Amino acid sequence: MALALEFASTVRHDGHGGLTDDLATPDGFAAWTGALAADVPPDEALRQRVVELRWAVRSLFAHVVRTEERLDTPHLLDFEHALKTVNAAAARVPRAAQLEWTDQPRLRHEDSADPGDRLLATLATAVIEFLGSGAREELRACQGPRCIRYFVKAHPRQEWCKPSCGNRARVSRHYHRARD
Ligand SMILES: [Zn+2]
Repeated sequence: MALALEFASTVRHDGHGGLTDDLATPDGFAAWTGALAADVPPDEALRQRVVELRWAVRSLFAHVVRTEERLDTPHLLDFEHALKTVNAAAARVPRAAQLEWTDQPRLRHEDSADPGDRLLATLATAVIEFLGSGAREELRACQGPRCIRYFVKAHPRQEWCKPSCGNRARVSRHYHRARD
């Protein structure tokens, strides 16, 4: 769940009406993926695939929470395309469960994928495990003005991804009330 949300959050509102995308440049891509796996190649085609997968993931999140129009809506894929993209990425790495047995039997997964495919599959699998679980029901789109984050609701009245979005929402409500 944490990885799925973190992946979706690689694009955010930039505070000035536009979007900030951590994966938009080769350096940003290397920095973000470097924290996940040391052996991801600095490959432009791979970066684009990861960005496409990220938009597919956000499209599925938007579908789950039925978001209204948000800043990132123009980038979203239609539902069928998004679903296929996520499933195809997970299927790039066929894994075999192997029993390792020295003192105790131990489960290990083995694959023969290259690091790029493994990255795509790891991200897609994290999203599939999250959306395929009950935790999906607590997924919310932040209601903060212009915020495009998703979060998993931790308490019943939570409406915002973080307190600063709640403060902005209160200020904005107050402003609109004062003008009416
Ligand atoms: Zn927010």
